Parts: sequence; C-alpha cells; structure tokens
Amino acid sequence: MPFEYAPAPESRSIVDIKASYGLFIDGEFVDGHGKSFKTISPSTEEVLAEVAEADEADVDAAVKAARKAYDKVWSKLPGRERAKYLYRIARIIQERSRELAVLESIDNGKPIKESRDVDIPIVAAHFFYYAGWADKLEYAGRGTDPQPLGVAGQIIPWNFPLLMLAWKIAPALACGNTVVLKPAETTPLTALLFAEICQQADLPPGVVNIITGAGGTGQALVAHRGIDKVAFTGSTEVGKAIARTVAGTDKKVTLELGGKAANIVFDDAPLDQAVEGIVTGIFFNQGHVCCAGSRLLVQESVAEELLARLKRRMSTLRVGDPLDKNTDIGAINSAEQLARIRELSAIGEAEGAGRWSPECELPTTGFWFPPTLFTDVTQAHRIAREEIFGPVLSVLTFRTPSEAVEKANNTPYGLSAGVWTEKGSRILSMANQLRAGVVWANTFNKFDPTSPFGGFKESGYGREGGRHGLEAYLK
Ligand code: NAD
Repeated sequence: MPFEYAPAPESRSIVDIKASYGLFIDGEFVDGHGKSFKTISPSTEEVLAEVAEADEADVDAAVKAARKAYDKVWSKLPGRERAKYLYRIARIIQERSRELAVLESIDNGKPIKESRDVDIPIVAAHFFYYAGWADKLEYAGRGTDPQPLGVAGQIIPWNFPLLMLAWKIAPALACGNTVVLKPAETTPLTALLFAEICQQADLPPGVVNIITGAGGTGQALVAHRGIDKVAFTGSTEVGKAIARTVAGTDKKVTLELGGKAANIVFDDAPLDQAVEGIVTGIFFNQGHVCCAGSRLLVQESVAEELLARLKRRMSTLRVGDPLDKNTDIGAINSAEQLARIRELSAIGEAEGAGRWSPECELPTTGFWFPPTLFTDVTQAHRIAREEIFGPVLSVLTFRTPSEAVEKANNTPYGLSAGVWTEKGSRILSMANQLRAGVVWANTFNKFDPTSPFGGFKESGYGREGGRHGLEAYLK
C-alpha cells in the first residue's frame, strides 16, 4: 500500500479578488457600457467576480486610446526606452509571481505546481527576452530600420491565460506597437491583474488596453477599422471566421489554432522516460494544450509493455484541488469544455475503442474528468481526428518509421509532434518528414521564449516566440 499524501494547499490569502472589475482603457479601469458576466472557479463553481463585458463603443474607446498612445508616445520612444518598461514589467511579474500563480489556478483550475513552476516563470521570461530585442530590431532580419505596424488587436484563449497574454503583448510592445487585448471569458482575472502591473510599471496610458468579454467583443475588435494587426490564439473554427472578416483589408494576421499532435515511440526508446513524456504530453494542464500529444503512436513490438507501464504511471496521478501542491491534474476549465470531453469520449467508446481510466475519486462540485486512455484506436475514429482538449489519450500502433510518419501526418492540423528513440539519425529523419511546427525529441511540451512556435495547415500561420515572433509585429 503506497503512503497517502496529506493535503498541502497553497494559501489564497495572497490574492485580493475584487467583487467587480471594469475595463482597462487608457491606463485606467473604467465601467463598460455593456453588460457584465461572472467568472467562476471551475474547481468549486464559486463565483469569483463580476466582470464588465465590452460592447462596440468600449472596443472603439480602447482602440482610440491605443492609437493615441501609439502616435504620441510609444512609436516615438527609442527601443532602449521601451525596453526599460518591459524589463520593469518582467521584474514585477517575478516579484508578484506567487500572487499571479494562485490567481491563475483559482480562475483557470490548473494545478498550482504548473502555474507556479511553468506558466508564470515563462511569462516573466518572455518579457525579459523581448525587452532584450527592443533596441536591437535592426538585427531581426527585417531590414536596417524596421517599423512597427501600429495598433494590434489580440485575442487569447483560456488554457494559458497569462502565458498567452505574454506571447502576444511582449513582442508587440518591444517592436513599438500598442495593443488592445481580449482575454477569454472564463479566465479574465490574471489579465486584469496584469493591467494593474502596467499601472505599477508606469507604462504610458493606452499602450496596453485590456477589454473583457466573449466572442461578440472579440468580433468587434477584429472588425474595428482602427487596428492594423490581429493576433489570435484559439480554435480553428474561430480562426477561420477571423480570416474571413479581415479578408480584403490590409490588416496583418497571425493565427495560432488547434492541434492533434502525434507522440511517436519507437521500440528502442527508453520506455520509462517515454512514459513520463507521454504523461506530460497529454495530462499537463488537464490536456487543455493546443500542442498536447493527444495521439500516442507506439511501435507494435513494444506496445504491450509500454501500455502496462503507462497504466501503472497513470494510477499514481492525483486529481483534485488545483491549489494543493501535490495535485497533478486540476479542474476542467468550464462546464462546456467538460461536456465536449464527455461527448467525444462517449463517441470513442461507441466507435469501438477500448476505454480505460485508473480508479480515482473525483470531487463532487466543480468540473472534473479522470485521466483516460483509449486503445485499439484507428485513424478513422473521431477521437483520433478531432481535438478533444482534455486529459484523453488515443493510442494507435505502427510497424515501420514510414507508417509512423504517414499516420502522424494524417491530420488537418500540424502544430507539434514528439519522437522517442535512441537514434539521433532517426530523430532528424523523422523531424524532416513530420508536418508540424515543433518537433520534440525525447521530451515533450518544452517551451522557451527564444524558440518559435506555430503551426502547419489548419493549426494556423505566423510564429510566436524567438526572433521569428518579431516578424509578426514589424512592417
Ligand atoms: P475559442 O476560439 O472558442 O476562443 C478563443 C478566444 O476567441 C476567446 O477569447 C473567445 O472569447 C474569442 N472568440 C470567440 N469567438 C470569437 C469570434 N467570432 N471572433 C473573435 N473572437 C472570438 O477557443 P477556446 O475554446 O477558448 O480555446 C481552445 C482552442 O484554442 C483550442 O482549439 C486550442 O487548440 C487553441 N489554442 C491554440 C494555441 C496555439 O498556440 N496554437 C494555444 C492555446 C490554445
């Protein structure tokens, strides 16, 4: 009998959640003209705060504030001055990292060990990294005097709220643009805390504007004639709608969309390490990860052995309170997302795949789904083709490297892939053949601000991160 863990909850007292929040426009929090909506904790269903829903007039006010700040202040500052603000923001993020991590886990449902050790450190790293670029843009590969685009409208999803904000805002500001950013409707709180950090850093008013709301607010932002650039991360469906809206205008667009990554394990792979990589690949952040390794492709000769070890490992995963430091899998972000995961899992069973989850007790309130794997999955199954965006792994097998490549690429997406093998030459050969923006070798879900990220095919276009990420914000 393994020992039991005692609860180790992180304290909430470091976070001060207000009863209601306005919109952050022109350096101040203002009441919106529209309605408001509630943001809840997905692990308890407790209402956390009432948040303003920006309507068209609010979007217009935010875009005008961003334009004024662009024309009068930000585009005129030398890069080294912009860098000082970005460094200041990065340092404040580090100083307030515990507060940010706790708030992210409360509003999103992700385990505190992930928001504390992964999300927030990479957020700060992004601001540090792009602060470093702000006075070196002539070395970015965009000519000797690269110019900013103007005002960027940025829309982000709920799975990595503050991290997606950093991926958008840091390069935009470094290049001299101003921004209007809309966080997802289920996770607005860390973006609003970031607005306070902008105030604390004395960022000139209007350089960053944060407007909260749902799809309608996002649509109004994308359609606004005053923006020069749309940066979107979210579903492929909404990405396509955005591409249609901006068609025929001179707005620049980058789209970071969905994925259905193959995590490919060859028979010479170190199996225990591969098991860890598979677990990180699909159960990190409850599987709410665009680049999640949601399709495991395992070489037939080691499939039985690997699955036995994987099941053993999955039985040790702890599902529960996101604020408990021992938790591996937190809450599903919303009732809607839980319904989608349940629906696709039921379809997997109905189509004949074998469903397995370890025994695990789920809390009675909030939104929860156990770590799950499906065996005997074929390429025709919907669980092998559609993004589930939850802790659900589909297992397929292959016999030869070429069969692995063919199956891995048999998807409308192309965001990421993983290869597990002892052979370096095989890694390089596979990486060349896989139609995916990122290929990890003997690891998975590793992120670094210096490394570009983005998709092939329906996973979108444009790159975020690294030097490539600057191209999206320069003429
Ligand atoms: P979503 O597309 O429903 O929503 C994303 C954002 O777009 C939200 O802020 C939402 O309010 C807004 N939005 C909704 N409808 C809109 C419209 N018509 N016009 C403008 N904005 C609109 O996606 P989601 O469910 O929040 O996020 C999950 C999806 O995001 C998954 O498909 C996932 O793969 C993808 N994702 C991709 C990346 C990446 O880098 N490629 C990263 C994270 C998430």
